[in-house]
Amino acid sequence: MSSEVLVTPEDKARYMQVMADYDEAMRQVAISISQRKAADHFTACRDCGRFADKSRWVPRDSTHAQHGARPLCAVCFDEYDYDY
Ligand SMILES: [Zn+2]
Repeated sequence: MSSEVLVTPEDKARYMQVMADYDEAMRQVAISISQRKAADHFTACRDCGRFADKSRWVPRDSTHAQHGARPLCAVCFDEYDYDY
């Protein structure tokens, strides 16, 4: 093994920082989802009409919503798996 493949402390620190930034970004997303208000979002599944998870809501004033995007609940989402 040559020394070229060793992970330097700098590499390790950079990696830890990337992971910390990612954790923080995920935390911010979770907070913003928890603060969503039903009145400002489309909350019903576009297929079955059932109340979708908060994380799947579509903000009423978003570009997605203006282009017709609506939430898809977890159950219906699973049925779309073949699309991938
Ligand atoms: Zn559904």
